[in-house]
Amino acid sequence: MLTPLEPALNGRRISQAQGKLLGGSSSINAQALIPFSKLDIDSWEALGNTGWNWDSVSPYLEKAFTISIPDEQTVEHLSIEWAEQLRQSYHGLVNASFADVKENPLGRAWVNTFERLGFPLSGNPFRGRSTGAYNGASTINAATKTKSSASSAYYTSLTARSNVEIFLSTTAEKLVLEPTYPQPIVKGISVLRNGTSSTIHARQEVILSSGVFNTPKLLELSGIGDASILTTLGIDVKVVNPNVGHNLQDHILCSISFEAQEGIQTGDDLIREDPVALQSAMELYQTHQAGPFATPGITSFGYLPPVEFDHEPQAFDAALKALSEGMAGESPMDAARRNHVWTIHQNRSEGTSQYFLFMAQAGPAGKDTTGPFSIEPQPGNYISLVSALSHPLSAGTSHIVSTDVNEPPMIDHRYLQHPLDLEFHGRHVRYLETIAATEPLASLLKPNGRRNDPQAFVGADLDKAKAYVRNMSTTNWHSCGTCAMAPRDKGGVVDSDLRVYGVSGLRIVDASVFPFIPQSNLQSLVYAVAEKASDIIMAGR
Ligand SMILES: Cc1cc2nc3c(=O)[nH]c(=O)nc-3n(C[C@H](O)[C@H](O)[C@H](O)COP(=O)(O)OP(=O)(O)OC[C@H]3O[C@@H](n4cnc5c(N)ncnc54)[C@H](O)[C@@H]3O)c2cc1C
Repeated sequence: MLTPLEPALNGRRISQAQGKLLGGSSSINAQALIPFSKLDIDSWEALGNTGWNWDSVSPYLEKAFTISIPDEQTVEHLSIEWAEQLRQSYHGLVNASFADVKENPLGRAWVNTFERLGFPLSGNPFRGRSTGAYNGASTINAATKTKSSASSAYYTSLTARSNVEIFLSTTAEKLVLEPTYPQPIVKGISVLRNGTSSTIHARQEVILSSGVFNTPKLLELSGIGDASILTTLGIDVKVVNPNVGHNLQDHILCSISFEAQEGIQTGDDLIREDPVALQSAMELYQTHQAGPFATPGITSFGYLPPVEFDHEPQAFDAALKALSEGMAGESPMDAARRNHVWTIHQNRSEGTSQYFLFMAQAGPAGKDTTGPFSIEPQPGNYISLVSALSHPLSAGTSHIVSTDVNEPPMIDHRYLQHPLDLEFHGRHVRYLETIAATEPLASLLKPNGRRNDPQAFVGADLDKAKAYVRNMSTTNWHSCGTCAMAPRDKGGVVDSDLRVYGVSGLRIVDASVFPFIPQSNLQSLVYAVAEKASDIIMAGR
């Protein structure tokens, strides 16, 4: 994927990934199953998307997932008694489970540390409103200890149906549009197979699900988008909509890796690609379906309001004032996002950062960043504490730069370019020091131990935290929003039935339709949107 140098990240380039296989990114993701919140989805309806609210969308979580609950001892060790409520109501095709980690002290210590800090879990995270820390589920099938993805969950049942045909190694090139009055109609899609183009004709409609970067790309290649971008590339403009490819959002994250006490099991040997560690992990997995390959690396999460502002009420008031006053020249979507974020900061019942624990070293540095492990791994065992900004105000773009379908789009997130994002992200990252210094987590880390980077000793200094954040932050792979569901004059590309404006016979169902990024990791909402879309389509709307 093409990405520019990010000015607010000290000119670093943050690369992006997308799963190019059946199941898309659900087949390569980190498996964290974090539910979206009530406020997340209610904000979509407030934007003008009738029927997209907590009461109507959250039941699709139950339709999409089945959640296995571990034995009593593990439930107690992980403090996940709240999860018992999910056992009955969740009955979907995607399997999720909790890590069986009774012997690992970290999950328990995580929850107890946040309790000590005054942030016990305030409610069942799957019920729409909670702050505090908890141990979460992962999309891993508890029985087989294999990844559960859109492919493993849905594809197997589809192959038996006579009205489903799947073309592998086939690239969609562009839509086939017919010029009808009052607007063009989509009649099919041109695809590239074995170097030859052909057309697949649509009897009823076409549904694009090519993801946050490739769905706007396909629209633009088909002549739907910003006229100035299309004409520059010599593409015939069929539908003018400058909102296509705009509104790109992601949860920018930043971590500090703390050296772990002797005896704490971490994944650092695997990150260093130690052949003995890799072989023993593989043997454990293949013979007993156990060990690190059977366990997700990220299981402990938490959402906190902007705690660090508690010591700086004037700075917080200034941030709220800036939010209520708006920015010169902002778009209707940016203004709506600012109002949404203002509501969140005002009521404090919603997290503004997701904190999580990663059981190994992490943290990119340098000019070109390809992911959390892009720097040379260090000796030693580490526990990384991570903070990801839940509701960024910065939004970017993803546009084509060529008419060649094989060329990637230019993805420009504009990370931290809204000044308030740095104010919030910097403070949340500074709070990682407080978490690390609080018992019982503190006792699992080496006092004065090594860290991932000399700049990672942030202490209480906000300027140091901001400098570190600019140097070390990276993507959380949660990009969304480039074909937003919203009224057209507010920045929309699709309406609340997911139909693309200005053209007949075309819908979009993927993370590109999210108008605002949810606080959660994306897959819970991607599956819920897809399940709701199927009901909308079946109802003939
Ligand atoms: C590395 C990584 C880790 C992640 N970890 C988590 C996590 O732990 N928890 C979580 O909740 N979320 C996570 N996510 C996010 C989540 O997986 C994605 O948001 C979600 O899968 C997006 O679904 P989608 O349907 O919008 O697009 P995708 O899953 O990206 O699917 C798009 C599909 O379209 C195909 N495609 C694109 N263009 C074309 C074309 N021209 N012709 C034919 N096919 C095309 C692609 O090959 C792909 O199969 C992660 C994402 C990544 C990349």
